[in-house]
Amino acid sequence: MNKYYLSIEIGGTNLRYGLIDTNFSIIEFKKIPTKDFSISNDKIKFLSELIMPFIDKYGKDNIICITMALASLMNRERTVIYSSPMVMGFENIKLVELLQEAVDIPVLMEKDVNVLLLYEIGKMNLNPSGIITGVFIGTGLGNAMAIDGNIYKGASGSASELGHIPVPDLEQECGCGKKGCLELLACGRVLERLAIEEYQCDIEDIFIYHGNDKKILDLVYYLAIAIATEITILDPAYVILGGGVVEAEGFPMEYLLDTIRENLRYPNPRESVEFIKASGDMEAGVIGAAIHASQKL
Ligand SMILES: [Zn+2]
Repeated sequence: MNKYYLSIEIGGTNLRYGLIDTNFSIIEFKKIPTKDFSISNDKIKFLSELIMPFIDKYGKDNIICITMALASLMNRERTVIYSSPMVMGFENIKLVELLQEAVDIPVLMEKDVNVLLLYEIGKMNLNPSGIITGVFIGTGLGNAMAIDGNIYKGASGSASELGHIPVPDLEQECGCGKKGCLELLACGRVLERLAIEEYQCDIEDIFIYHGNDKKILDLVYYLAIAIATEITILDPAYVILGGGVVEAEGFPMEYLLDTIRENLRYPNPRESVEFIKASGDMEAGVIGAAIHASQKL
């Protein structure tokens, strides 16, 4: 009898979920707006109702676990959600315990960027030995690091928060509760604001029409400085670059890579580090969550 992972990825815009087999192929894939989940009063009941039809159809004994990927702040043990900027009322919740109780199947969770990195390493068939980092520039600035193919979480579980490194003299407050984070200057949220207030254009067109504007290039410059800093410390073999901003039409990738390299020491890591554009696959999160579960169990 075949066994399956039931994956759920809760992103800023979409909640994607589906059934993945042990070869990491998709058996079923569904997508709903995250908003539907965000406005629901009982989050555990909402998730249980997504899960139950799969249990009825495939049998509880054939589902290895529920494996979740979320853009939330969580504890090192990955059992408690501390905060979720994209979802209303989804904070300080013992998600793993409560969902496990509701559906009577083991539940795992991990940060979305971490499972995305695992997916890309597998998809690109990269040699996992050493360090591989991922920078995912979407609404926020996501970052992940794998060492010998395993996600590095840090002593407290809060490693790889590249978006929240301090910028000198920046006084603005960040959603994370401190002041002066890099994410305030370099992520999709900044582009959204520029599109509305500065250019009165569609966010999707921002690089096509304004890609050479100083404000846009400054944003890319800050990204480059952050990425160059991480590379300087870690000397990774590969850096995977993904997320909606990087995938947007007209994104100045060449300027980003040139600026990163200019800020790296010569000859290495400037010449040794390899940049790879992420696949942008829609199902990356749900498959990545299954890969993560297979490593944990
Ligand atoms: Zn911050």
